[in-house]
Amino acid sequence: MRLILLAPPGAGKGTQAELIEQKFRIAHISTGDLLREAVKKGTVPGLKAKKYMDKGELVPDEVVIDIIRDEIKDLYDFILDGFPRTLEQAKILDKILEEEEKRLDTVIEIQVPDERLVKRSVGRLSCKCGEVYHEIYNPPAAEGICDRCGEKLYKREDDNAETMYSRIKTYKMKTLPLIKYYFTKGILKTVNGDQDIERVYWKIEKILNRIKKD
Ligand code: AMP
Repeated sequence: MRLILLAPPGAGKGTQAELIEQKFRIAHISTGDLLREAVKKGTVPGLKAKKYMDKGELVPDEVVIDIIRDEIKDLYDFILDGFPRTLEQAKILDKILEEEEKRLDTVIEIQVPDERLVKRSVGRLSCKCGEVYHEIYNPPAAEGICDRCGEKLYKREDDNAETMYSRIKTYKMKTLPLIKYYFTKGILKTVNGDQDIERVYWKIEKILNRIKKD
């Protein structure tokens, strides 16, 4: 199964992608994680990306596209989390998939009102293994420690109110046009993300099980 999770920052797409990965055994590709890794390693794409990420802006398409092309080329199934984020990226993804004779099964849009997004991401705690927690809504069992791997949790540099406003604005300007793009292709599904994690996942799982049966 090949799917895209489309959602504003702080809507929980990373958390949902992790759950889908565990249940359906599909590779989870997060461009945000890949970029943060590149920044940490100080690679050329990482150095290019950092200044945009710090401001809550999108990294130039060519940087992200090179990364994603490499990641998906040998994969049969995948969940894309955070890609595509512009119409240009969506069209290039179509081309890459066409060249490999693959097609997208579905695009799941997770909707969350703006005021909830800031609250959610400001309290977010991340782990390098991919797990994501929240200080209030989804705390780890032991404070500051990942339940899954035991590593110390950290706060992402761009998870602060000021950068969040900029990320939400960027999402509306650059990423929202994708909703129409995938709706027109007939593969868009929308889920209400303003509910607890299990409930959102339950809805997503229903959509995916239906696709698996077809
Ligand atoms: P995320 O972890 O998905 O919230 O992404 C964190 C940051 O990485 C974003 O605010 C962007 O600066 C950058 N980023 C992630 N994915 C993309 C993408 N597909 N296109 C451009 N920039 C991206």
